[in-house]
Amino acid sequence: MVNIKINGMDYQVDDQITVLEACRSVGIDIPTLCNDDRLEPHAACRLCVVEVEGKKSLETSCSLKVWDGMVVETHSPRVMNTRKDILDLLFSNHPDDCLTCDKSGACKLQDYCFEYGVEKGSYIGEKKDYPIDYSNHFYTFDPNKCILCGKCVRVCSELQCTNAIGLEGRGFATKVGTPFDMGLAQSTCVSCGNCVAVCPVGALMPKRKEKVRYWELERVRTTCSYCGVGCQMELLVKGQKVVGVEPANGKANNGLLCVKGRFAYPFINHPDRLKTPLIKKNGKFEEASWEEAYKLIVDKVNGIKEDDGPEAFAGLTSARCTNEENYLFQKLFRAVIGTNNVDHCARL
Ligand code: SF4
Ligand code: SF4
Ligand code: SF4
Repeated sequence: MVNIKINGMDYQVDDQITVLEACRSVGIDIPTLCNDDRLEPHAACRLCVVEVEGKKSLETSCSLKVWDGMVVETHSPRVMNTRKDILDLLFSNHPDDCLTCDKSGACKLQDYCFEYGVEKGSYIGEKKDYPIDYSNHFYTFDPNKCILCGKCVRVCSELQCTNAIGLEGRGFATKVGTPFDMGLAQSTCVSCGNCVAVCPVGALMPKRKEKVRYWELERVRTTCSYCGVGCQMELLVKGQKVVGVEPANGKANNGLLCVKGRFAYPFINHPDRLKTPLIKKNGKFEEASWEEAYKLIVDKVNGIKEDDGPEAFAGLTSARCTNEENYLFQKLFRAVIGTNNVDHCARL
């Protein structure tokens, strides 16, 4: 542990952590646009700057380790003015379309501009003017809204390990790009959407049919039902309709999803989806109640068991069920029906 003074208060913190982590551990919020606890510190946005006694220039708290006797000011007038100027610079080279931007209400640049009183960009000059990349089936990339925090690139390389995108060019011309600028559809992108999930602004956005505002959405934490990994996710629900999915931080997925969990949710609202049991009568399926369906199943199971014994059964279950459902399924076959003929589609 080390002794550190933050904003005039004494604290003891772990000696291996950064100033940003130390401040957060004692409840002091420091703004950042490029930091993600799962990624290596990047110190790109510089919004997390703090004053450190003995240092001439302001220091990025996300990349600076604490030391014993350190004295830090996180919200001094000099720090606040610098942060305000950084936001001003970012917003001066950003489209002025917050009113219609899909990210409004969930945009960190918007939130910080509100917090630091930046109403508009005051620097006049050239602005980015790139074509929007619509080529990916599931998401769009608008380089004009990009603030070059680098999170998408780092998530793609450090966590997703696909390296589909990178930062190219220098200075004002720097942008997130694909090899030979051929667009996302021609890149090695596997459409996991993990870059979209970390983008703090509206540069990377999911494609969706519905017009939604983030503040009107209900979030429902659940487990992805597409495979046995069991990734944690949040369904974004508007009224009675699921209109999006965002990754949640579960032990199995570390805040990541694959393309199926992230984007293949429209089946939930598909009109062809079965909502009641169907029983075939006279060669045609007819809607039935659950009581009717269970009675039919029990009668059939008992009849077959009586005529041919339990080994006449085989149970085939699915990786799309949870571990708990699969456990119950094998229990039903082993303990109730009396056979070990149980298998699972994951063995395909
Ligand atoms: S969708 Fe996934 S693979 Fe494609 S660029 Fe984003 S993080 Fe990389
Ligand atoms: S696209 Fe988004 S996540 Fe990627 S660098 Fe730009 S602002 Fe950051
Ligand atoms: S998000 Fe992908 S990996 Fe995760 S549980 Fe769903 S299908 Fe499996």
